[in-house]
Amino acid sequence: MAGAQAKGPFLENEAAVPETTPELFGGKRIGVLLPLPLGGPAGGVYDYRCSADLALQPGDFVEVPLGRRSLIGVVWNSGAGDIAAERLKDVIARIDLPPFPEISRRFIDWVAGYCMSAPGAVLRMAMSVTDAFEPPRSVKAWRAVSMIAAERKKFSPQRQRVLDVLQDHALLQSTELARQAAVSPGVIRQMAESGLIEAVAVPLTPPYGQPDALRQGPALSPEQRHAADILTATLRAGGYGAMLLDGVTGSGKTEVYFEAIATCLAQGKQALVLLPEIALGAQWLQRFEKRFGALPAQWHSELTGLERRLTWRAVLQGDAKVVVGARSALFLPYHDLGLIIVDEEHEAAFKQEDGVVYQARDMAVVRAHLGQIPVVLASATPSLESLVNVESGKYQALQLPDRHGGAQLPSMHLIDLRRDKPARGSWLSPTLLAALDQALAAGEQALLFLNRRGYAPLTLCRDCGHRLQCPHCTAWLVEHRFHQRLQCHHCGFATQMPSSCPKCGSTGGFTACGPGVERLAEEAALRFPDARRLILTSDTVTGPAKTAALMRSIQEHEIDLIIGTQIIAKGHHFPNLTLVGVVDADLGLNGGDLRAAERTFQLLHQVAGRAGRGSKPGQVFLQTYDPDRPVMQALLRHDRAGFLEVEAGDRDMAGMPPFGRLAAVIVAGSNEAAVDELARDLARNAPRMDGVTILGPAPAPLAVLRGRHRRRFLVKCRRDVAPQTVLRRWLQGKGRKGDPAIQVDIDPYSFL
Ligand code: ADP
Ligand code: ZN
Ligand code: ZN
Repeated sequence: MAGAQAKGPFLENEAAVPETTPELFGGKRIGVLLPLPLGGPAGGVYDYRCSADLALQPGDFVEVPLGRRSLIGVVWNSGAGDIAAERLKDVIARIDLPPFPEISRRFIDWVAGYCMSAPGAVLRMAMSVTDAFEPPRSVKAWRAVSMIAAERKKFSPQRQRVLDVLQDHALLQSTELARQAAVSPGVIRQMAESGLIEAVAVPLTPPYGQPDALRQGPALSPEQRHAADILTATLRAGGYGAMLLDGVTGSGKTEVYFEAIATCLAQGKQALVLLPEIALGAQWLQRFEKRFGALPAQWHSELTGLERRLTWRAVLQGDAKVVVGARSALFLPYHDLGLIIVDEEHEAAFKQEDGVVYQARDMAVVRAHLGQIPVVLASATPSLESLVNVESGKYQALQLPDRHGGAQLPSMHLIDLRRDKPARGSWLSPTLLAALDQALAAGEQALLFLNRRGYAPLTLCRDCGHRLQCPHCTAWLVEHRFHQRLQCHHCGFATQMPSSCPKCGSTGGFTACGPGVERLAEEAALRFPDARRLILTSDTVTGPAKTAALMRSIQEHEIDLIIGTQIIAKGHHFPNLTLVGVVDADLGLNGGDLRAAERTFQLLHQVAGRAGRGSKPGQVFLQTYDPDRPVMQALLRHDRAGFLEVEAGDRDMAGMPPFGRLAAVIVAGSNEAAVDELARDLARNAPRMDGVTILGPAPAPLAVLRGRHRRRFLVKCRRDVAPQTVLRRWLQGKGRKGDPAIQVDIDPYSFL
């Protein structure tokens, strides 16, 4: 793609981004953006006076007074001028750090404008690091004296938790260790006294290494070489370019983008890799280390305070060369970012649903455009959005059609559950059972996939049929036998199984309805007692060290039968796995989700891709009640193009994304009448504009969430109409905060 005419995906409605010219403010009025979710006319920028002896420039971190406290913000502009000069408060101090880079500042303004959030709320994502502004000092941290001793002996559950946590994080400060292990400081003290753990002074070495740009990667196949050459040429040419690295699972996409990272490193610039679920990136990290001889800096919610602080500073100072992270890593203040990779770009996990609601994959493209750098989106099942961008010439497609080493795609089979019925109270059809018998007898590994955590999705009273429901949400409580409790998957509410029915008082007990992975595991244990079984769900896989150990045990064939949810679907490479059984292929197809079929195709295609990655061919069985559906037929034939053509046709006809634009407006509050009143008021004042359809209000499928009643509107716009313009006009002067509140979701991915 020619760099000069390359266009960003959203340029048609790009928010006005002021070009900030570096200028010194001495003794003058300045505008400081505070990392707070405050709106207001100046967008959260507050005016201060810069005393004459301070030389400040845009981007400087400054400590300023706010009410009775002080906090740290960023010098943003020359101020709004709405406060009289004599009432201005003085900046307290300039923080001794490099300035928040100009591109990062423009990015924050852009994201705030596009997502209709307060810039301060976006800035907060870029600054949410405690202590980062204090000068570095050495700190006291705990470590286990011996890991061997830790494995051999029997400890109290509390002590064991401390040792487990220290296995995941070699060093932890007291408060962090106590929090993660859920123990009191006394437990830590006693363990130190008995010599199990010891305190050391940490010299604050950064939690990452220096990747070596010159280290050789594996010899690439001709297709891989071709794709890698285009990437590296784009990097060398400089400027923006968006590329879709589209290759079947196992085709070597990771090896190819590693080449681009090597080139970026050789240019002395930083590279960012966004992954959907960083906690499961242990295998990815190992590969990176093997390729570059050092670990990259990581950025995700599991980091300790110390790790965050060191990493944040290192990113700002340009010392951290490669950052791998979850979506929030996009907002780090990169000193000189040269490349962005978004792996598994189709994953819905890139959409953040609370606070600032944004799609990290889309914002990564915007960030690349602002920084005039290349961005690579990688996937085996690209989103329709990205494929349409390829068709319109906005993205360049790089294809890797074959699996590395010639492994074949697995053969696909549909099992019609209406004919091939599982026995009563079981979930596996005779055909799937026979295939499992055969694979296990041949000494091969098998995977049973069911994307549903817990034991059963619904629990009923045997006597009156009462369904156990979350007290705070319109949702059933899910039984988790592993944790011995009932959980709400929407708000996190958890409780014990009641001893009597809350409705009729009967103590006759409860019946579980439908399967979750834990129940499926029960059936597998009965049916295949000799197979070494492993349940993989987010409830059982906790922490990177445990994840890595479990993945290793599968790779080394210490496991015969894996029973798992979607956490097993991605990225992992198990050469002995030849059989995949999808227990309920229809699971994701119900409900009003615009992308339900697309997601089902992506998820099941990825799960299927786990089979037959080694030398032995793989087989995949999909159990479904509706084998004639286009998505099932497409999976059967590995016919992605055919599926997408039907899907694109349907969406285009309905004016849905990516052919039209969508925004959701949600009214939520604790008082149902007030919520309805506000929703009706909005409906009465809905703007009538050409190319805009406003649907609703309707009760949200999750009509009550965390005790708040919810009504939804859907704003559907023609491609050339920006929903932000419609929404600004519509919601002007309406309270966005408070109770009830109005939430805006641009490009919604969740319709609950
Ligand atoms: P993808 O990211 O497309 O799923 P990977 O990059 O994970 O594919 O590659 C799949 C497997 O094949 C990995 O184990 C990887 O190390 C191996 N592989 C891919 N390309 C090569 C190559 N050129 N030389 C050696 N091994 C390769
Ligand atoms: Zn009852
Ligand atoms: Zn709930």
